[in-house]
Amino acid sequence: MAESFDALILGGGIIGASLAEELSRHGRHVALIERDRIGAEASTAAAGILSSQADVAQPDAFFDLCQASRKMYPRWIEHVQRRSGLSVGYSVDGVLHVAMNSKEEKLLDKRIRWQLKRGLKVTRLSPREAKRFNAAIDGRIKRAYFFPTEAQIDNALLMAALGAACQKAGVETREGVTATRLRMEGGEIKGVDTDRGAFDAPIVVNCLGSWAGVEGLTPQPLPVVPIRGQMLVFDGPKGSFRTPVIGERAYAIQRRDGRVLVGSTLEPAGFHKALTLGGMHEILCGLRHITSAVNNWTYLTAWAGLRPCAPDKLPVMGQTSVKGLYVATGHYRHGILLAPVTAHILTELILNGRTGFDIEPFSPLRFTK
Ligand SMILES: Cc1cc2nc3c(=O)[nH]c(=O)nc-3n(C[C@H](O)[C@H](O)[C@H](O)COP(=O)(O)OP(=O)(O)OC[C@H]3O[C@@H](n4cnc5c(N)ncnc54)[C@H](O)[C@@H]3O)c2cc1C
Repeated sequence: MAESFDALILGGGIIGASLAEELSRHGRHVALIERDRIGAEASTAAAGILSSQADVAQPDAFFDLCQASRKMYPRWIEHVQRRSGLSVGYSVDGVLHVAMNSKEEKLLDKRIRWQLKRGLKVTRLSPREAKRFNAAIDGRIKRAYFFPTEAQIDNALLMAALGAACQKAGVETREGVTATRLRMEGGEIKGVDTDRGAFDAPIVVNCLGSWAGVEGLTPQPLPVVPIRGQMLVFDGPKGSFRTPVIGERAYAIQRRDGRVLVGSTLEPAGFHKALTLGGMHEILCGLRHITSAVNNWTYLTAWAGLRPCAPDKLPVMGQTSVKGLYVATGHYRHGILLAPVTAHILTELILNGRTGFDIEPFSPLRFTK
């Protein structure tokens, strides 16, 4: 006999796990179905830079979404840490963006003009000021911009903490279970078939990241594709990077234990999480222009992850054309940042049938029009 729940969340990445935890806290009997283990894919592979400003090109609904999530982060992290008993390395130390040439400088200048008009905090630094600010920077940079309210987190620790918080909230986590097909009847969702049997529920949320559009798991076009990101890890001396440093071709972020994560490529390479010589070379050349310190670091490890990306690079979230079936994917380069606001919006939609956020630009129905 099929197991029965109030809601099934498909995919145990940051988006699925944060939503499962929030829905369960609101008294719903929730199962989180993950084919591997919680955080197995992009959510652990990410760098953990919470960039709601430095990385956003224009003032639009996406920018508002990023800002809303940034504001939710401190309380959300406090909650996850309290429930899990784990510390996740969250800190608001700011982010340093460097421009290596006039073209990049112009782009960043344009971005900070509208941000300053909106009262957001950002400081323009000369190359000399940037070098004073961060001793590891010794490349030929043209300009730097410091965004003091941007934050960082150890997303691998966050996924471990979210898994524990889910358990505490009463989520039934089913790891090693692969969803194979949605079960629908008369335009309504009824549940999902898996390789370990059927699960029944009147609410199903597809949080399958790069796999959200796979046949059988979406009744309508969901053109989300994986964009590969390769990441290299070095043992750098502690204090090499006070804040994450982002350039056009590479970025670096230092964990509390001294590891420096260096990323990343943006490659359409299907579902192949391979590391390539070309990719690693590109990242290292990009970083080498910012800092020569990398020459002396000890190489530790490397990995690749798949960012879920829609054709317009915007998140895909909301109700589908099938009653009771929702989607939350397509978070591309901002899924770690956008987890709390996504969980909040989907919880509002599921419990109240509406949300206070403008999610029209992110509608899953935009691909069927
Ligand atoms: C190299 C890299 C760096 C990044 N850096 C940042 C950053 O600094 N800041 C930031 O905000 N974002 C960053 N991102 C983006 C962020 O990681 C993603 O947007 C986010 O993790 C997406 O979360 P998700 O839960 O949608 O997907 P995922 O984490 O991929 O989760 C989807 C889950 O679904 C499971 N699944 C798939 N098919 C099935 C099935 N049939 N049945 C059951 N389970 C299934 C998978 O195993 C997986 O665990 C980065 C990404 C990469 C790759």
